[in-house]
Amino acid sequence: MKIKYRVNDQVKISTGKDKGKTGKIIQVLPELGKVVVDGANIMYKHLKPRRNNEKGQRVQFNGPIDASNIALVCPKCGAASRIAYKISAGKGEQADKKIKNRICKKCSEVID
Ligand SMILES: [Zn+2]
Repeated sequence: MKIKYRVNDQVKISTGKDKGKTGKIIQVLPELGKVVVDGANIMYKHLKPRRNNEKGQRVQFNGPIDASNIALVCPKCGAASRIAYKISAGKGEQADKKIKNRICKKCSEVID
């Protein structure tokens, strides 16, 4: 599954318990179609004590979020937007290559 989002993208969660929350992508999981957003979808994992005199630990982590449940916060216009692609010809030495840029659907600015 192709994911349009990248690590360090600022995104807004559009559904679920973290609806409206914004955060930065810290991991992209293309094989699952999911991303991990810093501070969102907080989950807990309980670790059992390894010895009798130890307490069990509760470890907090960010659970993955379906990529369809987030929107990019455009760094240019600040709106939560969908991502589109723009294909353009390269410049200079890259002239024979096509360059694919992500653009904001709201303001049409190149995001990268
Ligand atoms: Zn924009």
